[in-house]
Amino acid sequence: MLRSVTKCLWSNPVAGGRMMSHSSLAGKVAIITASTDGIGLAAAQALGKRGAHVVVSSRRQANVDKAVSLLRSENIQVTGTSCNVGIEEDRKNLINLTLEQCGGIDILVSNAAVNPFFGNILDSTDEVWSKILDVNVKASFLLTKQVVPHMEKRGGGSVLFVSSVAGYQPMPGLGPYSVSKTALLGLTRALAPELAHSNIRVNCVAPGIIKTRFSSALWQSEEVTNEFMKQLSIKRLGVPEDIGGVIAFLCSADASYITGETITVTGGINCRL
Ligand code: NAP
Repeated sequence: MLRSVTKCLWSNPVAGGRMMSHSSLAGKVAIITASTDGIGLAAAQALGKRGAHVVVSSRRQANVDKAVSLLRSENIQVTGTSCNVGIEEDRKNLINLTLEQCGGIDILVSNAAVNPFFGNILDSTDEVWSKILDVNVKASFLLTKQVVPHMEKRGGGSVLFVSSVAGYQPMPGLGPYSVSKTALLGLTRALAPELAHSNIRVNCVAPGIIKTRFSSALWQSEEVTNEFMKQLSIKRLGVPEDIGGVIAFLCSADASYITGETITVTGGINCRL
């Protein structure tokens, strides 16, 4: 039985070709926000290695230039520009540049987030909430709204939000940030049914503790790291590549029947709402 199936796959180029091509992103154009470092950069590498033309951006042009050089050295097709996702003009420029230089948009990975506050949630201010919700939630929605008509022109697409384990269980001291990450779980579910009509899938990843600059306060102290270790089944902190591959999977045809879902990538931390 096994031999005949194997023989069929070898002798049937269509069957074999279909299997090979599902993870390929050749010909696709992917915008990844906040992609000059950490998880965003790893997502750009994972999508680029599968053949996508990646559009990388962040607030600082010097960081963009560095990321573009790195990705080019890895033979990845890349375009770069500065973009602070909290600024409407920057979001428009990002979309326009992508259309001009790449001819369309197939994938949006909305990865940018800020956290300007640490402390008791009742001490957080109006200003803190506006900043966190503008960048972490509203910009994700507004970018999605901007790319949808362009994905429709290509016959469909894929939108991916980067949430957090904190979206399931608010982290002490990170109340407003955690709530913004819970909102992305809701945004994923709210958008998915509407966009399915346009053949656009909407999914989300919720990383655990991943060693990046953003999370350095959580892993620079041995005491805090040891506390997190107790919650992990896989006894190491995550690295950006642990997330990049999952993002690429969700954006590829391998995930063609997945929409409205969040995949937690946490090394086994229990995640429940
Ligand atoms: P990171 O390594 O510190 O990288 C942050 C990136 O975001 C940089 O490229 C930075 O470049 C850019 N950036 C910051 N603010 C921006 C803005 N307003 N607009 C555009 N780009 C901006 O961070 P990371 O850990 O990979 O975090 C990425 C995402 O993963 C965030 O959504 C975060 O909430 C989520 N996450 C992280 C962890 C973790 O443990 N690391 C866990 C769960 C979820 P510039 O300075 O040039 O702007």
